[in-house]
Amino acid sequence: MRIALVSEHASPLAAIGAVDAGGQNVHVAELASGLARLGHDVVVYTRRDDADLPETVRTDDGYDVVHLTAGPARTVPKDDLWPLMPTFADALRRHLEARRPDVVHAHFWMSGWAATRATRGLSVPTFVTFHALGSVKRRHQGSADTSPPERVEVELAVATRAAGVVATCRDEVQELAAMGVDLARVDVVPCGVDVRHFTTTAAPLDHPPRREPYRIVSVGRLVPRKGYATVVEALVDLPGVELVVAGGRSEGGVVEAEQLRLEALAEELGVRDRVHFIGQVGHFLMPALLSTADVVVCTPWYEPFGLVPLEAMACGVPVVAAAVGGMLDSVADGETGLLVPPQDPTALADALRGLLADPVRREAYGRAGVRRARSRYSWDAVATATAEVYEEALVAGLARKHRASRLPALGPA
Ligand code: UDP
Repeated sequence: MRIALVSEHASPLAAIGAVDAGGQNVHVAELASGLARLGHDVVVYTRRDDADLPETVRTDDGYDVVHLTAGPARTVPKDDLWPLMPTFADALRRHLEARRPDVVHAHFWMSGWAATRATRGLSVPTFVTFHALGSVKRRHQGSADTSPPERVEVELAVATRAAGVVATCRDEVQELAAMGVDLARVDVVPCGVDVRHFTTTAAPLDHPPRREPYRIVSVGRLVPRKGYATVVEALVDLPGVELVVAGGRSEGGVVEAEQLRLEALAEELGVRDRVHFIGQVGHFLMPALLSTADVVVCTPWYEPFGLVPLEAMACGVPVVAAAVGGMLDSVADGETGLLVPPQDPTALADALRGLLADPVRREAYGRAGVRRARSRYSWDAVATATAEVYEEALVAGLARKHRASRLPALGPA
């Protein structure tokens, strides 16, 4: 198949860990690579955010990235990109006409809107994966939600017009149902983990050197909803435990507001000397970092999917995660880790205390995590399942055309 992936803000070529670059970038890069490995012809369309980027980049993973010009050729916060989408959609349309795909798969609501507009009249089925839903974000962030006000309405329109929605977990399916999306057109394909890279054999990163008997690691973009504050608060009840936080500032970059807030909180709670912010860690070094942890902790307020728990599991590290979103599917409670209520430092501290004191259970969770990650979540499996969703739509489309061609012409007998 000729497959076009559209990901307006999340380029597969971006450095991961900054405010707007995280799981979606990894997902698009890995899905594109996985589909290319299956022999499909894959192009990823993203917005040009640097004037020096060539229009087309051929990646070593066998797919192309095309940079579409829409607005200034520099980083623009994703919540400010909406007014640029008509230009992005028009540029996308020109490319799709010149190199017509069999299927388009848009990532995030704005790409969904742009792809719907760009494919009008082209008879190309368009799928969408939202990665995050505006309705969920609004519920949790209230007035702090900086998404354009149209987002929820546009998401529903995109979901309704697309050939199908590829959701990543069961919790998202419930949210889509609550929005009024027809579930007959929703498939669930989870996100994956690179099981060749995330393994139990990574040499542990020796920075920062361990100073306490136990180490927990949290990873992700440094934004409040990732719930690092809950982990800092839990440390008060966990003497002998240090926390390493990866994500946020790139080397030499400005310290982010969220880090300053967390540092002040840690200071106030008397745990500052046990919290280490190490900034952005190159994705290739992530297995080495995760391997230094006794437990990886992921306690966001909400999480559309959450790649980090899968990455930890693939490295054989037990996970304590908030019982939200995709982690309800990926983390097997009492088997590969523990699920705790979100934003509850006491419950988190209790879970961690028990697990850290029990090396036999940690070992067993780690081994079960590796089995679960490898058997269910390799990107090859994810790419295969995604391609099957596309193929079903293409076959159904052909069947419809075939039926239409056999219908008797309407008119007087
Ligand atoms: N990540 C990274 N370096 C960092 C911080 C994060 O490589 O400094 C990666 C992490 O390994 C994971 C992704 O960014 O693959 C974060 O994905 P997740 O789904 O956990 O969170 P999101 O960013 O989508 O909210």
